[in-house]
Amino acid sequence: MKTIRNLALSFITLAVSAAAFAAKPIPGPKGGRILTTDAPHVEFFVEKDRTVTVSFYDKALKPVALTGQVVSATAEAKTGKVQLAFAEKNGALVSKTALPEGDDYTVVVQVRDNASARPKNYRVLYHDEVCGECKRAEYACICDDAGKEHDHDKKKK
Ligand SMILES: [Zn+2]
Repeated sequence: MKTIRNLALSFITLAVSAAAFAAKPIPGPKGGRILTTDAPHVEFFVEKDRTVTVSFYDKALKPVALTGQVVSATAEAKTGKVQLAFAEKNGALVSKTALPEGDDYTVVVQVRDNASARPKNYRVLYHDEVCGECKRAEYACICDDAGKEHDHDKKKK
């Protein structure tokens, strides 16, 4: 009986830590947002010139070489949707054009493992200010649990 109870207990512990892990955002090595919950990880990073760099990492967040992934993105800016195409640069995929003016809009990032793979879509709420708590770009903030609404905009007004 005792063994079964211990097994049940360790199962519960495992389930709890897995949930905690899923809720906590992973800090992107370049300062961007990790879109994935499982490896291989995908990081969305906005450069100073507002082009987007998408990088890939293993479980330990070590960069992995590209293996034919195909990335595209749609910026749902207030001025209209803008498609971003990506090309390989320094081992990552970099957008050929910059994000449209403004912020506080959704960027849908579509990742395919290869040209014929099914696309996976990830949504990022793009904010260009810096978070006062973690000092990361707001879209890549790791302070709150994933999916929680931020109050930075309220402070700005
Ligand atoms: Zn933060």
